[in-house]
Amino acid sequence: MTHPVFNSHHSETELLRYIHSLQNKDITLTHSMIPLGSCTMKLNATTELLPVSWPEISQLHPFVPVDQATGLIEMIHDLERQLCELTGFAAVSLQPNAGSQGEYAGLLVIRKYFETRGERHRNICLIPSSAHGTNPASAAMAGMQVVVVNCADNGNVDIGDLKTKAEMHKDKLAALMITYPSTHGVFEEGISEICAVVHKNGGQVYMDGANMNALVAVSRPGEFGPDVAHMNLHKTFSIPHGGGGPGVGPIGVRAHLAPYLPSHTLVPECGPKTGITSTTSAPWGSASILPISWAYIKMMGAEGLREATLVSILSANYIAKKLESFYPVLYKGASGFVAHECILDLRALKKTSDVDVTDVAKRLMDYGFHAPTMSWPVAGTLMVEPTESESKPELDRFIEAMISIRREITQIESGKMDRHNNPLKNSPHTMKTVTKTEWTYPYSREEAAFPAPWLAANKIFPAVGRVDNAYGDRNLVCSCPPVEDYK
Ligand SMILES: *Cc1c(COP(=O)(O)O)cnc(C)c1O
Repeated sequence: MTHPVFNSHHSETELLRYIHSLQNKDITLTHSMIPLGSCTMKLNATTELLPVSWPEISQLHPFVPVDQATGLIEMIHDLERQLCELTGFAAVSLQPNAGSQGEYAGLLVIRKYFETRGERHRNICLIPSSAHGTNPASAAMAGMQVVVVNCADNGNVDIGDLKTKAEMHKDKLAALMITYPSTHGVFEEGISEICAVVHKNGGQVYMDGANMNALVAVSRPGEFGPDVAHMNLHKTFSIPHGGGGPGVGPIGVRAHLAPYLPSHTLVPECGPKTGITSTTSAPWGSASILPISWAYIKMMGAEGLREATLVSILSANYIAKKLESFYPVLYKGASGFVAHECILDLRALKKTSDVDVTDVAKRLMDYGFHAPTMSWPVAGTLMVEPTESESKPELDRFIEAMISIRREITQIESGKMDRHNNPLKNSPHTMKTVTKTEWTYPYSREEAAFPAPWLAANKIFPAVGRVDNAYGDRNLVCSCPPVEDYK
């Protein structure tokens, strides 16, 4: 611990200022909406978070005898019941520490089920090409062999291809992993038919329900086909995330899989006697953050949860409609609507203006916004998820920023602005750049750093200018003292 950072802040005030200076470098939910698609950056209410610091919760050892943790365990069972009610599944395990761990645990449950039926050889896992990267990774870790199913041009699973592959592999078919609502932001209309095809060919359906924000209290996955699904409590159920965890990715299962949910050698009470061995170190995974989701569900109530779902769908559709004449919305359902998020297609801009998705993402920082999800699930696009937590004025501010950026792009297209030296290519603009005596850019300082009216009152200057992402990934620069200093 000889690095200066560990021995230069000696008073509480100094340490506080140091930590706050780090915090100041970030655009967070305390400044503006974080429109990250597939991430559900919703409100993490103070009332939900406070209990996490209570010693009754934060000081419990994961292996405390269960009769000394009756309060926490009562809450855990209550949360399990609530999640069963919301998903329509027969049983839930809170053990997985992340969505990806839920996938892994869920696939092991499926394997165990086949084992008990003398069908150990079933090891083929069908996964649509649009799937989240964690899906094939989990399938491989669970010892399954991945077979990719094609997607149609509208982003939906190609049901013809699914039928062909399910039938071709019917003797060894173990599972299909399908994301619902789909990773491209719409309700996959063939979902029940897709599940039926897999069941008919002897497989089980694993639903990636990481993003349940468009389903809660409106539709129950346990009733439309899937046999097992995970739901991310650190997305839909209000646990803060984005800094790398901790998370909770519980799995829900239909009755025939319930006997195989994860257990634990040291704390067998956490799962069924016939369950698979634990997939995480602790019996109830990230137990200390469960009060957040418990409180969220309790405070929202059935009506509140339903309203949140409806408002999150409404907000996504509001943004999609307001922006579609500026940026095409890539995928929509049959009736022209999206689910809880939408994909804005920026690919055509590359030809007309040289502007790509990175330029728009960086330029948004000048406007005080965190970028939406970039180039996922489709390269060259932005995926926007507003959630129910954002007010209409905040949605309008984001829309205004996106429209204003589109106008800047129009100026490049028309030749009014240079294709390589413009506010988008040079973004984000730091305080240092903007206040330097010398200013050589062909646009004003005001256009660079204060392109929208609200910035006069609430401007966040990015701490650094443009970093070449790909170069940075391949050429690590250590800002610590050089290793030789330690000789
Ligand atoms: C977030 C997400 C995951 C993975 O969840 P983690 O908790 O990050 O492991 C899987 N699938 C989808 C569709 C997701 O959005």
